[in-house]
Amino acid sequence: PAAQEPVPEGKKRLLVLGSGWGSVSVLKNVDSREYDITVVSPRNYFLFTPLLPSCTTGCIEHRSIMEPIRSIIRGKKAEAKFVEAEVTKIDPYNRTVTVSHRAMHDNVKSEQIPDLVEEMPYDYLVIGVGSEVSTYGIPGVQEYGCYLKEIEHAQQIRKRIMDCFEAASFPGVDPETRKRLLTTVVVGGGPTGVEFAGELHDFYVEDLKALEPNLRDQVTLTLIEALPNVLPSFSKHLCDYAEKTLLDEKINVLTKTAVKKVTSDTIYAEKTLPDGRKEEVVIPYGLFVWAGGNSARPIIKDLFSVIPEQATARRGLLVDEYLQVLGTDGVWAIGDCTSSHYAPTAQVAAQQGSYVGRLLNQIAERDDTLDKVTVLKKQLDDGLTDKKVAANELRHWERRLEKASKLKQFQYSHQGSLAYVGSEKAVADLSFWGNAFASGGTWTFMFWRSAYLSMCFSIRNRLLVMLDWTKVRLFGRDVSRE
Ligand code: FAD
Ligand code: NAD
Repeated sequence: PAAQEPVPEGKKRLLVLGSGWGSVSVLKNVDSREYDITVVSPRNYFLFTPLLPSCTTGCIEHRSIMEPIRSIIRGKKAEAKFVEAEVTKIDPYNRTVTVSHRAMHDNVKSEQIPDLVEEMPYDYLVIGVGSEVSTYGIPGVQEYGCYLKEIEHAQQIRKRIMDCFEAASFPGVDPETRKRLLTTVVVGGGPTGVEFAGELHDFYVEDLKALEPNLRDQVTLTLIEALPNVLPSFSKHLCDYAEKTLLDEKINVLTKTAVKKVTSDTIYAEKTLPDGRKEEVVIPYGLFVWAGGNSARPIIKDLFSVIPEQATARRGLLVDEYLQVLGTDGVWAIGDCTSSHYAPTAQVAAQQGSYVGRLLNQIAERDDTLDKVTVLKKQLDDGLTDKKVAANELRHWERRLEKASKLKQFQYSHQGSLAYVGSEKAVADLSFWGNAFASGGTWTFMFWRSAYLSMCFSIRNRLLVMLDWTKVRLFGRDVSRE
């Protein structure tokens, strides 16, 4: 077990939890020669989430946006380890985490792979475990909803789309059931819901309708949002542009409508009318995608009750200006598992991860320099070296120590927000040299594609994504049912 492996002399044990945007940025930046690094995550790959909605329709194949974590750590100067396991408990007072290998390896169960739960000690800990989908306890959402947060969710949606289509094409099916099977309801008008609706629209228009012309006019797509606008985090002009584009795409956009209950085939929602009265909305569905937002994972919520300084935390861990978890020592938290005034986005998580990686390098330098200063002082006190030479050297190292001890606070630099809205159109809230710039349309779509292509994790990912786009342009999406 990883916990029992000795740490190389002079190195501190650094545990990095998670393999998402934040943690991978830490790994890219931290100097592995300074730390004994172990990454623990139930997912042995990094996922490029911005292109996940495209995987639901086969516009992009899922492996094109995955990068094995082992290839990421292989590129480090010194060895780093990966443990595929779920962290079930963090004990910041005894500096340990409990990891469970239990949920993993289901399909290779054998005596060689024990059902292991172990405690792993750390000197420094970086928590980057993200968030989980929140259903707000709405009845039926967990049972019947498809989420869109992980690769398996996108695969499940892709399969469900085809299941509904094939079932609806069946000759004996009655018209009412056919209509229901061809109805998709997306709940949540944030970027996830809007981007998925846009992708599904493209799929209908470009592929499915051509393959099954009889069903052409029967597909319906409804997007439900509780607030008065879709994409509420974008500027007003872009919210309006996005909504108009969705309506042009014949997507039924229901704003000020909150879903209250879901059964195996029907959604019940409540619409607030302009005069304040409430009206019930009932929609039978074939596919229901829940994109209603996220909340803290259980291991993070546990810390809210264990650490007194976290008692008021709700969405995520409270951190200071150095992203250190309040009430702890040597524990940092980054990305969606934190609560700050930044939006829970990949951009924030990546910048926080890079910052913590660099901070850890500085801390290592500070600790090394402190050791050097302590040794020199002792030598000077013991009169072991030439006094003048030693005093000069000590002054030099003390200056270095002073510099290394000045830790810079985290500063976020917002590069803008982008979202795809279907029909080869995108919206962009950008900032150039401090000036805000909002745009929507086909040129923005080209920008969206090139921006995300350049952000892909590796050259391999970039090539695969380009290939997928080309394949779809030439041959259409693959509609075979797996
Ligand atoms: P994540 O990337 O979610 O990573 C969390 C990691 O922790 C995962 O590896 C997970 O397996 C691991 N983990 C979970 N539980 C445990 C545990 N118990 N123990 C150990 N490890 C654990 N943001 C943008 O800025 N731009 C976009 O265009 C954009 N598009 C998006 C599209 C979609 C469909 C989605 C769902 C999100 C999108 N986001 C986008 C948001 C962005 O993906 C998140 O903000 C980002 O992933 C947060 O990074 P993170 O490192 O905090 O968490
Ligand atoms: P979100 O929290 O941004 O949006 C969820 C939406 O669901 C909200 O607008 C909320 O009002 C609505 N909602 C919740 N309960 C509802 C109910 N019962 N009935 C009707 N509507 C309901 O969630 P998201 O879209 O998954 O995004 C999560 C995070 O990831 C955000 O920070 C977002 O910025 C980021 N993200 C960014 C992009 C991008 O930049 N392109 C894409 C996806 C996600």
